[in-house]
Amino acid sequence: MGTISEHLNNIKERIRSASQTAGRSEGSVRLLVVSKTQASSSVEEAVLAGQSEFGENYLQEGIEKIQALNHLRKKIQWHLIGPLQSNKTKLAAENFDWVQSIDRLKIAQRLSEQRPANLPPLNVCVQINISNEDSKSGISQNDAIELCEAIAKLPHLKLRGLMAIPEPNSGNAPLKAMNELFVKIRTRLHEQDLAPSFDTLSLGMSDDLELAIAEGSTMVRIGTAIFGSRLKSAQN
Ligand SMILES: *Cc1c(COP(=O)(O)O)cnc(C)c1O
Repeated sequence: MGTISEHLNNIKERIRSASQTAGRSEGSVRLLVVSKTQASSSVEEAVLAGQSEFGENYLQEGIEKIQALNHLRKKIQWHLIGPLQSNKTKLAAENFDWVQSIDRLKIAQRLSEQRPANLPPLNVCVQINISNEDSKSGISQNDAIELCEAIAKLPHLKLRGLMAIPEPNSGNAPLKAMNELFVKIRTRLHEQDLAPSFDTLSLGMSDDLELAIAEGSTMVRIGTAIFGSRLKSAQN
């Protein structure tokens, strides 16, 4: 067991080495530290070690942490990476910097309408159900372009890219498919002068970050490899 700071360094080294192996430039892959079920003191420790981007799955838990760490607000970008119900969009629009789990237009429209005027546009990613699992959230690959085009036109959102949570141990295929979809949608958006900021492919977790980086991920989401196991009691 090392400290959070040591774990962060290990993960950064894995990212650096995987990027090099894949022939990708240093700094082309960002680290999102997933802090769900972890104490705000642990997040603070990671911030002191230089980490700035954090992901939360559960809206209420995330907001509690954002408020507890308000003194560090300017140093942190908070990402909501879990499912969002339409009656909770206002809280998300008011508190987070990113929402990565958008899978229908209605949610995006509400976030855009409810984003406070004094805040910059909310960064958003469209979540893709890449393994076609019935139980998983995310939009199908076929419907993704249309949704991205519609979101790109909303005034208070900044469409940043795509996110997916492939089935565990499903190998390269879903990661490859995500990269192809990402490039295809980016091309389509650029042809229409939409979403110039479409730059994020959020893919890869503690166990598959090397594979995800080889397949073009620009943001890996890492929880357990930094904080250790999650407390069961705090999970939904
Ligand atoms: C929990 C979670 C992660 C982090 O997974 P680890 O296995 O702890 O690295 C990444 N992405 C999402 C959407 C998650 O819910």
